[in-house]
Amino acid sequence: MRAFVVGRFQPFHNGHLHVIKEILHDYSSVIIGIGSAQYSHTMENPFTAGERHLMISNSLESAGILNFYIIPIEDVNSNPLWVAHVESLTPTFQAIYSNNPLVRRLFKEKGYDVKAVQLTNRDEWSGTKIRERMLKGLKWEDQVPIEVSNIIKEINGVERIQELAEDDD
Ligand code: NAP
Repeated sequence: MRAFVVGRFQPFHNGHLHVIKEILHDYSSVIIGIGSAQYSHTMENPFTAGERHLMISNSLESAGILNFYIIPIEDVNSNPLWVAHVESLTPTFQAIYSNNPLVRRLFKEKGYDVKAVQLTNRDEWSGTKIRERMLKGLKWEDQVPIEVSNIIKEINGVERIQELAEDDD
């Protein structure tokens, strides 16, 4: 039995890793959709789909997890068509995990078993808060798997976010 989970993973952090481990208690494999795959180099979505793919796969493999499929998913202009778009890209799955009201609604309307993601330690394990810490030059490395901090350092990700903020000004 496979489950599907979707997120933007900007960046992939310890909370996401925890959720994936929890899902794998109940399902034999997990399909991880990288949402808004077409976006990168913005304050909300600083990392490319390829960078996010590497962050997730390196972290899971290091944790000894191999039963996953990673699928980048670009947004589409029509919400009613989005589930069919996801289905066209992924292996079949029996359940979907999300807390995003729109995602939950769209999958429920197509008859899927929609489950809630158990969020933990949201004070620290939050993509928005981690990006804010990077922007302010604060310590963020403890909130992500070591593989993710290595990739972000390799691509000068913090510098990217700080320069993007200058552009926004
Ligand atoms: P989101 O609005 O980016 O995130 C919602 C909240 O859920 C965030 O606070 C996020 O925290 C948290 N979250 C999501 N997945 C998590 C996980 N696995 N573990 C812990 N926290 C998690 O929405 P999303 O649910 O992450 O992503 C939905 C994706 O579907 C987006 O890329 C969206 O564009 C796409 N979508 C597209 C269409 C369309 O194209 N028409 C329609 C519906 C949805 P973090 O920031 O910490 O991750």
